[in-house]
Amino acid sequence: MSAKMLSFVSVPQAQPPRREAGERRGDFDEIYEDFTPAQAGTQASRCSQCGVPFCSIHCPLGNNIPDWLMLTAEGRLEEAYAVSQATNTFPEICGRICPQDRLCEGNCVIEKGFESVTIGAVERYITDTAFEKGWVKPAMPVRELSSSVGIIGAGPAGLAAAERLRATGHQVHVYDRHDRVGGLLIYGIPGFKLEKDIVARREKLLQDQGVVFHLSQAIGSGEGEITLKQLRERHDAVLIATGVYKARETGGPGAGLSGIVRALDYLTVSNRRSLGDEVPAGELDAAGKDVVVIGGGDTAMDCVRTAIRQGARSVKCLYRRDRANMPGSVREVKNAEEEGVEFVWLAAPEAFLGDETVTGVRAQRMRLGLPDATGRQSIEPEPDGLFTIKADLVIKALGFDPEPLPELWQAADLEVSRWGTVKVDRERFETSIPGVFAAGDIVRGASLVVWAIRDGRDAAAQIDRWIGEQTVGEQVTGKQASAPVAAE
Ligand code: FAD
Ligand code: SF4
Ligand code: SF4
Repeated sequence: MSAKMLSFVSVPQAQPPRREAGERRGDFDEIYEDFTPAQAGTQASRCSQCGVPFCSIHCPLGNNIPDWLMLTAEGRLEEAYAVSQATNTFPEICGRICPQDRLCEGNCVIEKGFESVTIGAVERYITDTAFEKGWVKPAMPVRELSSSVGIIGAGPAGLAAAERLRATGHQVHVYDRHDRVGGLLIYGIPGFKLEKDIVARREKLLQDQGVVFHLSQAIGSGEGEITLKQLRERHDAVLIATGVYKARETGGPGAGLSGIVRALDYLTVSNRRSLGDEVPAGELDAAGKDVVVIGGGDTAMDCVRTAIRQGARSVKCLYRRDRANMPGSVREVKNAEEEGVEFVWLAAPEAFLGDETVTGVRAQRMRLGLPDATGRQSIEPEPDGLFTIKADLVIKALGFDPEPLPELWQAADLEVSRWGTVKVDRERFETSIPGVFAAGDIVRGASLVVWAIRDGRDAAAQIDRWIGEQTVGEQVTGKQASAPVAAE
């Protein structure tokens, strides 16, 4: 092992510097600065090169973390990049937005007492450097195959699958109802966590690789949409990677007042404006308003911090459990607090006040009760616990469920679970329709980018295998994906 490693005993943990809260409130740029080469090397050298690396075990991609840390510590960055990109399609994206405290870093064995190795920041540094140095190249196929695959959804699951399938030689066509590539990476997650040009440079690589994008093209049964059946006829195999978009709602008196909006509508408009689109924000603009965000997950964190940047008068986050029990990342809560967000823990909305437009939220103080069957503490209302918060914009960030695809797509043969997620064979990723596969949030329910990448890569391997099986003893169909279908 390199003499440089194991320095955690003498070198304290350091994340890349963060811009001052006052400065970052004024823009949508990322808040973390880059590591210098020396900082990256020193931080990487803190790793103790475990024989059984728990960091890798708890990384959904099984990244070979100790190896790329050691190579970084030794200044062998091109090799570090080669190792890192072998298991992760978008390492620089995961390095920025994975909840590392729950995954790799949270399971680093030196975490206790010494603080974990800053795995995410080093991962980001390696690939950002690789882009800068021109080491990142499109994964060109060694030979062209005549088989074609249609992918529905240009989010991380669809893109990861597209990259792998194209590298294998298949003709790959990605369809998305949005006008840009990236799914939630572009229209959900704000620029202060992931700048948009990071996603755009990946799109360019995929295009260079020969992946064909059909944007502003929905799959469905409405006017102008391509049906699943048409797509299945057009391609040798189809992958559904459509994510989950049905917002969970909150009820109660006044829930229909104007000024109460859905998180993703709010974030999409904000992201579009950051991208330079001229979209009328209307009620989806927090400037000068008292904003209340309901929820405690990543989406709620993104909404509160967006509202701050839009110039809200005040921003409060209402969550029915306490800080220790919230699903959002601890790091993001800290960032939000620094930027001026006030968290109102143990509080649930009971009613929305106002005549036509919301003017306030009546909330109920909650307290934690005994653990339920899952071990999670239940919540119950505090007696006499009602209170009112002033609000002229309320953003609901209560999570997402799948859209009812069999109905929307008039595809009764597409089997879904009781939660509406698409059912697949766990090993093969194949749905109830032969030759149609599914991956990402539409199978798992709302999850993480890193899991979408993992599923996309695994599904691609299964699609490749399946196409191979179909062509044993017969000619590849070589369906002409460029042939026009009725809806286009
Ligand atoms: P998506 O990214 O949702 O992509 C699906 C694509 O399919 C979209 O482009 C959509 O337009 C397209 N599509 C849908 N239906 C159709 C149709 N009928 N026809 C054509 N195209 C269609 N995860 C993290 O790891 N870290 C974070 O910090 C984080 N923050 C988040 C913040 C927000 C606000 C949200 C909402 C989610 C966040 N997540 C985060 C979760 C993460 O974004 C998702 O788990 C991930 O994007 C899922 O990838 P996917 O490819 O399955 O779906
Ligand atoms: Fe950690 Fe995510 Fe990178 Fe895996 S992909 S090493 S979990 S930051
Ligand atoms: Fe290094 Fe921590 Fe992973 Fe061990 S668990 S190999 S110390 S990063």
